[in-house]
Amino acid sequence: AAPKVDEADPQAKALGYRNDTTKVDAKQFPKHADAQKCATCQLYQGKAGDAAGGCPIFAGKEVSANGWCNSWVKKA
Ligand code: SF4
Repeated sequence: AAPKVDEADPQAKALGYRNDTTKVDAKQFPKHADAQKCATCQLYQGKAGDAAGGCPIFAGKEVSANGWCNSWVKKA
């Protein structure tokens, strides 16, 4: 599997990426809701039940199914 996105990575920090959606900074990202997570994001490439999967925002890395970033878009 590809390496996981590091929360301390500058791009991850800029997008507010967290491995655990419940840890997202609510003041910095007021549109965030705990129901939003990578597994329900349009851009997530993991399969249902996978713990992590690809995301084009973080090319070559994997994001947590329970993660979140500011580019979250509801899966259609
Ligand atoms: Fe997760 Fe979507 Fe952000 Fe990618 S764009 S890190 S799948 S919330």
